[in-house]
Amino acid sequence: MLIIGSHVSFGKEQIMGALNEALSYNANTFMFYTGAPTNTIRKEINENIVQEARLKMMENSIDINNVVCHAPYIVNLGSKKDISKWEFSIEFIRNELSRCDAMGITKMVLHPGNAVGISKEEGLDNIAEALNIILDGTTKCKILLETMAGKGTECGCTIEELAYIIDRLDNKEQVGVCVDTCHISDGGYALSEFNEYLDEFDKKIGIDKIGCIHVNDSKNVVGSHKDRHANIGIGTIGFDNLIHVIYHEKLIDVPKILETPYIGDTDESKERLYPPYKYEIEMIRNKKFDSSFLDNIREEYRK
Ligand code: ZN
Ligand code: FE
Ligand code: FE
Repeated sequence: MLIIGSHVSFGKEQIMGALNEALSYNANTFMFYTGAPTNTIRKEINENIVQEARLKMMENSIDINNVVCHAPYIVNLGSKKDISKWEFSIEFIRNELSRCDAMGITKMVLHPGNAVGISKEEGLDNIAEALNIILDGTTKCKILLETMAGKGTECGCTIEELAYIIDRLDNKEQVGVCVDTCHISDGGYALSEFNEYLDEFDKKIGIDKIGCIHVNDSKNVVGSHKDRHANIGIGTIGFDNLIHVIYHEKLIDVPKILETPYIGDTDESKERLYPPYKYEIEMIRNKKFDSSFLDNIREEYRK
């Protein structure tokens, strides 16, 4: 069965708010940040909300094991230049994993880190060292290292870099990979050759490590290292290549999460933004691209 959802917001209603937003898009999974992705201010998880949300998920046949949390992107395990920042990142991720445990979430996506002012190899070593501290067996939730576009000093842009980190971990079962289609394309792997990518991934890491797929088109060409997501079917990857990934027989049980940009609209001279997910999910379910979907979105949300 297709497991498809999008990034949704957590907000005041916490996981219930995220779930309701996902249901409004006809999704059967979702991904959220436990607060703003750009800061590390976090509220405590409300247990009552969790219980209600778990029940509602069951009623709607949503398996919590397919629901994904995303760590904020400002934590950085790759650099020890400012040791207190590195230690803060470790502590924050440990707490984030505990928050996931409290919600019953089993997968947390993490951007591996940035090698600021040091070599790639040193950055990767720092990440592995940090993960070995974090994954001490006290939390259940797994970390999924995301494939990165290779923007600036980002680590984890190639299959080899991710394999290098994972090879150095004591607790390998606690770690998987989140494959982002925009990022791998920007990182240099053409999605028209996705089968070859999967073969290489299987040899160096193992396909069973793939715990989530971020489904995004890209605004830039293969190998651009830019990381600018495009809406489904209107980027350089294209609808058919994305459908091939989404329905790949070897990835059937893997949740697919859209992180495509909101649609802009100038209504009564003020700029508004609409979520594209309901429409993109519908096109994916139909396996058919609708060239007027952006107009349809504007029409629906203008009302
Ligand atoms: Zn990410
Ligand atoms: Fe992503
Ligand atoms: Fe991205």
